[in-house]
Amino acid sequence: MRALLAQAERNANYGKNAAAEMMYRQIVDEAPEAEEGWLGLARVAGDAGQKRAAYERALELAPESPAAVAGLAVLDGRPVPPEAAAALAALEPPAEETRPSTVSVAEETAPAAPVEEATYTLTCYRHPERLTSLRCYNCNRPICISCARKTPVGYICPECQRQAEDAFYNSRPLDYLIAALVSLPISLLVGYLLIRFFVGSFFFFLIVFFVSGAVGGFIGRITKRAIGGRRGRYLPGLVVAMMVLGVTLPAVLLLLLGGMNLFAMLGLGIFLFVAGGAAYWQMR
Ligand SMILES: [Zn+2]
Ligand SMILES: [Zn+2]
Repeated sequence: MRALLAQAERNANYGKNAAAEMMYRQIVDEAPEAEEGWLGLARVAGDAGQKRAAYERALELAPESPAAVAGLAVLDGRPVPPEAAAALAALEPPAEETRPSTVSVAEETAPAAPVEEATYTLTCYRHPERLTSLRCYNCNRPICISCARKTPVGYICPECQRQAEDAFYNSRPLDYLIAALVSLPISLLVGYLLIRFFVGSFFFFLIVFFVSGAVGGFIGRITKRAIGGRRGRYLPGLVVAMMVLGVTLPAVLLLLLGGMNLFAMLGLGIFLFVAGGAAYWQMR
């Protein structure tokens, strides 16, 4: 969480707002009680309504928070209350705060509006022959409707989206191998134990209903730790695939030996659904 916060802040300082926003959204998703996440999101959010909501949330968590008070004042076009300004000045060394705050103050009033212009007077920067009224909210270049991807805060162009994703997914190729080597043996063991001891017994269903989520979450956490907490586009899917393999292999063996019944298969299916979902969530 600390690392993600630092990375988000770095992106925000470099003006990579789309990437920073994606990270702050994950931070407030996972730690909704942390004021920093909401303040960061408020700083980079492209949409004025979402900016306001994030500042308000930060203010709820930390009443009198000078950054939130000042941010809301700027949004409303009110002067920043002197106590808040003084507290901010004391908190932040000038080098850190001057650039982003002046930029965002200046931008807040202007570019929120021209994202969608009334007439089709622009041409897509990737398709010069296509007229459009849309702009990328991150780089502000015009994009046609087939290039634009809709996000909660406006349209984004493919280049900015890829940049945001590249900054967000920081895994290395080796992480995929490590993730498979960690999650497959554990899943095989879990699959073996489920089948060896519990298939067909009442305990099996208790296990399925009560501990699937915890087992899946555990596999996800262990795997995530093994790869140093990095995120990869296909890593959550890979771990789920390993879990499916780990449970299905022993189940198929047992099926071939004639020891499998419909009831047991249903239980294993429920296990995979719940545990796989929990592992996926941990790996995000
Ligand atoms: Zn763009
Ligand atoms: Zn285009």
